[in-house]
Amino acid sequence: MSLVSIRKTEDYSRDKVDSAIARHFEALNVESDLRPRMKVVIKPNLIRAMRPEHTGTTHPSLVLAVAKWLRERGIEDITVADSPGGPHIAANLKTVYSVSGLKAIEGTAKLNFDLGWREIKCPAGYRNLSFNIINPIADADYIINIAKLKTHCMTTLSAGIKNMFGAVPGLQKPELHYKFPNQRDFSNMILEVAGTVMPNVTVIDAVEGMEGNGPTSGRTRHVGLTLASRDIYAQDYIAAKLIGLEPEKVDMLSLAIEKGLLKPENIMIEGEVFSPLETPFKLPDSKKPDFIDFLPKLLRRPASKVVDALLKPMPVLESNKCVGCAKCAESCPPKLIAIREGKAVMPVKGCISCFCCQEMCPARAIRVECRLKVKK
Ligand code: SF4
Ligand code: SF4
Repeated sequence: MSLVSIRKTEDYSRDKVDSAIARHFEALNVESDLRPRMKVVIKPNLIRAMRPEHTGTTHPSLVLAVAKWLRERGIEDITVADSPGGPHIAANLKTVYSVSGLKAIEGTAKLNFDLGWREIKCPAGYRNLSFNIINPIADADYIINIAKLKTHCMTTLSAGIKNMFGAVPGLQKPELHYKFPNQRDFSNMILEVAGTVMPNVTVIDAVEGMEGNGPTSGRTRHVGLTLASRDIYAQDYIAAKLIGLEPEKVDMLSLAIEKGLLKPENIMIEGEVFSPLETPFKLPDSKKPDFIDFLPKLLRRPASKVVDALLKPMPVLESNKCVGCAKCAESCPPKLIAIREGKAVMPVKGCISCFCCQEMCPARAIRVECRLKVKK
């Protein structure tokens, strides 16, 4: 059976978060895995410099609670490591740690400043032969993944599986976007990253989630829960159901089912009684209308091609909000964005609708519209 632990965690106050983590780890018997002198990595979802109250990023109170729990059990070598978007350099990490509130963890765990990475071979049968993975994660004896619960413009869901993409160093992530512009191929690649650097335990921060244009430009949704599991696939399946997504419509999950990695019938829930939210999370603007689902099966594929061509979601600049920082240009996989007279110039041709630009924009100056509406 795949155990998914769900606990009420009404807010980020220390007592509530500490108690939720302790109960999750007790249910999963995490303590039995710990060995003296083992190197443990905590992998939050950092993306870019966002304050703790920005629901695009893992809240630091969860990272601190996990680090403290490990310390209390004699683990000394604890490192917090992720590779946010943008270049994988010390200055970027320093800003992200400071803005996201993670500096408060120093003394309980180390913040990673090792800028190296190494190539890790993928398991047999994977489409990718290897991935470059940042050193602390590649060298860890034990990985605790702390993801955020969000909808996502490209992958629909961002939770445990998607969070492991942060193990790929900085600007190598847009290169993988470019290599896999098709959404399903991209999702397969993410699944392979997670399968290559499989975390031992994943915690999902669903105290405050993000709906709509996640991973960074959506709206906060209070859920008041945390989830934890050793089975990342089962946990994301439950996370999808919780926010009203059909798991089979999330490519990462349908692929996991196809590959035999995810067996919904084997999932067992511990803790709270599970029920999906009364009001589902709002989908990102980039998701095409579901009217295709109402067509007979035979017509769905050709109809989908027409819909893709006409309604392809595209990034659109809100010029008055743009501060000309060039973060979007730096992260655009096909290098299409230029900065002219202090403003970004968004492309129409060649865009692969990956929304890395929107994800990295600190000014929320990029919205998503279907191609028919985008002026050429
Ligand atoms: S669109 Fe956003 S990321 Fe790009 S230059 Fe403007 S403010 Fe910066
Ligand atoms: S313009 Fe934005 S959405 Fe289009 S390819 Fe570049 S980063 Fe991706």
